[in-house]
Amino acid sequence: MNITTLLIAVLMMLVVHPDRVHAQRVLQLQPGIALSFDDTHIHDWYEANEIFREYGWKATFYLSRFHRFSDDEIAMLHRLQDEGHEIAAHGYHHIRGVEYISENGIQAYLDYEINPMMDIMEQNNFFPTTFAYPYGNRDAQLDSLLFDRFRLLRGTTSGNPEIEYFRGFYNGSNLVFGRGIDSHRDDFDMAYLLSLLEYAKEHNKIVVLFGHKTVPMFTDRNQTEYRTLRALFDYMKEHDMRFYTMDELSSLNSM
Ligand SMILES: [Zn+2]
Repeated sequence: MNITTLLIAVLMMLVVHPDRVHAQRVLQLQPGIALSFDDTHIHDWYEANEIFREYGWKATFYLSRFHRFSDDEIAMLHRLQDEGHEIAAHGYHHIRGVEYISENGIQAYLDYEINPMMDIMEQNNFFPTTFAYPYGNRDAQLDSLLFDRFRLLRGTTSGNPEIEYFRGFYNGSNLVFGRGIDSHRDDFDMAYLLSLLEYAKEHNKIVVLFGHKTVPMFTDRNQTEYRTLRALFDYMKEHDMRFYTMDELSSLNSM
């Protein structure tokens, strides 16, 4: 190898080295949150949208049991999508995929949980590009199966670890882990959630969050209170942070 070839090789390494590409991409990220809500609570989400539109909020709604929705509910989903929210996939029957596959096999899982969901969503003019695992139940085999059909998969993470160990920051992978924000959770702690935003602001990160039914005040499990959302959104507004849909997260990875 002569000196010119060597120089070119070194230059190429500098230009295309993955760590450098990654570092540049992270630097370009505007800090923010990727907020999602799961299951079937269309009326509640629609109401929340009336209230939080003033923040310019954007969320990803992960729908399960799509075949049970009325025409009115489908129309509401289209209106949410038209305003920039993402309508995404959360399973036809909402089952634990890993367990279902170990008992019934991959094809049975696809036929029971994935294919009919995609069919009915497409029949209603929704073309989901991201998927959230029911109960966060996933493994590497299921990930690779579903990456054939979706650009991004969302699992879950819980607890309030020291922030360097928090798994719910987007890290350039299209497998992301959402941190729950429902009020009934043992790990619910508004101060901790705000500390995640503070860290994200300082380190150009995106916090991945998920809830379920949006409510003015919680009375049961799986409910996200308006005051939680308002606290997050006020902080974001004050610190110039932005909302990302999950599909937008998946596009960051291909930049
Ligand atoms: Zn669910």
